Amino acid sequence: MWETVIGLEIHVQLATDSKLFSSSSTNFGSEQNTQASIIDLAMPGVLPVLNKKAVNMAIMFGLAVDAKIADKSIFARKNYFYPDLPKGYQISQYELPVVYDGKLEINVEGKSKTVGITRAHLEEDAGKSIHDLFDGESAIDLNRAGTPLIEIVSEPDMRSAKEAVTYLKKIHSIVKSLGISDGNMEEGSFRCDANISLRKPGEDFGIRAEIKNINSFRFVENAINYEVGRQQDILESGGAVNQETRLYDPKKDETRPMRSKEEANDYRYFPDPDLLPVEITEKQISEIKKSLPELPDAKKERFIEEYGLKNADAEILSSSLDLSEYFEKASSNVSSKFQLLANFILSEVVGLSNKHNLDISKAPVSSEEVAKLITYVSDEKISIKQAKEVLNESWQNKTDVDEIIKSKSIEQISNIDLLSDEAKKILEKHPKEVQDYKNGKDKLMGFFVGQVMKETQGKANPKALNQILNKLLKGE
Ligand code: ADP
Ligand code: MG
Repeated sequence: MWETVIGLEIHVQLATDSKLFSSSSTNFGSEQNTQASIIDLAMPGVLPVLNKKAVNMAIMFGLAVDAKIADKSIFARKNYFYPDLPKGYQISQYELPVVYDGKLEINVEGKSKTVGITRAHLEEDAGKSIHDLFDGESAIDLNRAGTPLIEIVSEPDMRSAKEAVTYLKKIHSIVKSLGISDGNMEEGSFRCDANISLRKPGEDFGIRAEIKNINSFRFVENAINYEVGRQQDILESGGAVNQETRLYDPKKDETRPMRSKEEANDYRYFPDPDLLPVEITEKQISEIKKSLPELPDAKKERFIEEYGLKNADAEILSSSLDLSEYFEKASSNVSSKFQLLANFILSEVVGLSNKHNLDISKAPVSSEEVAKLITYVSDEKISIKQAKEVLNESWQNKTDVDEIIKSKSIEQISNIDLLSDEAKKILEKHPKEVQDYKNGKDKLMGFFVGQVMKETQGKANPKALNQILNKLLKGE
């Protein structure tokens, strides 16, 4: 048996208006090379000026994960040569990052564990190379050069792809809740490198491979699972894993080598002489602390208290900002039955979102519509089964739920006489089962309910039907 060991490095683009060391805009999607100032272009003689907002955002993150905030922090030059890096070095942090020694609690399948956060440092992003523009030529867009990032480095504390994705989602939810990043994964504002190794439990850590730049939760999970299988095959056939950097190809669902350790860059880090050490005061920290918005863990407690949700459901709902917003918007449109609403969202709406690989914020059925369905269920107008059917249809055809209910005359039969007639017919048809039931085979109640449901195309009100059957069978 192999144990999987995973550590993540997450790059989060900060939502500042201007860059980390220049006043150029950070806006996404502008015309190429219109947002690169002489500083971003590394003209001789220019000097970087630190964006204070970016520092404050890094501090916010540190506070949100119980980390230590450095009173003195240093920027370093990370030297490497690449066409999209005009200076020939990236300004990053090495020895003294703004944030270090944090932690985050995650919950996976009912078990909670703490993931250590080694550090979170500030750095600038590089530009973008665009390949195969004309006949195999490449071009450079420097709009992104100098955009502020925090890189969040975890301890190698995760033991499965599920744990890694849960941790990643919670970090995503935190940075979005804090408002320090838009978290847009398609635009590259939130991307992750996954370090993976295998070992026999109790032994030292094995040699790891690093999968670079994965930009969707699903890809992270798939890439890790693929990598675990690959390493397992190597180890079981007596081989050794190469320490190397790999890339994940979502189309083929596999990872491929990018560069090996021998080819790894030697970055020759040294403190940037153009930048003073950053000094962070207690006062600055305490002011930021006072301004922190509600974070996922606090939200979870509030969901339990305010809506009476089960712990596990409150955990999942609060762990993603999009999901919690969907739930809260829906809950403001129902008068009670919050747990039923939570169940419905977590199993049905999330199920459909996953199936269609959509973010819940882009679900074609709005939270208001889902609230309507739950209200109808709680008023016993439709059954939960019917609610699911209507949801599916509404998702597919983008039709309002009221329209679907009306056009298909979906409604629940709660009429006692009607239900009694149906129930009597079924009991008469199955005298043997009735006898068995009376002799103590309680399980047959489910059979009778099922038969009536079948006769009524699932329209019978289950609560009323149960009462009626009990009465007929036991005289209760
Ligand atoms: P590097 O200097 O090569 O970036 P770090 O020590 O900074 O290496 O670690 C990078 C990431 O790799 C961290 O998230 C860390 O938790 C993780 N990591 C380190 N060793 C292992 C290992 N043996 N297996 C899995 N992940 C690891
Ligand atoms: Mg590293």
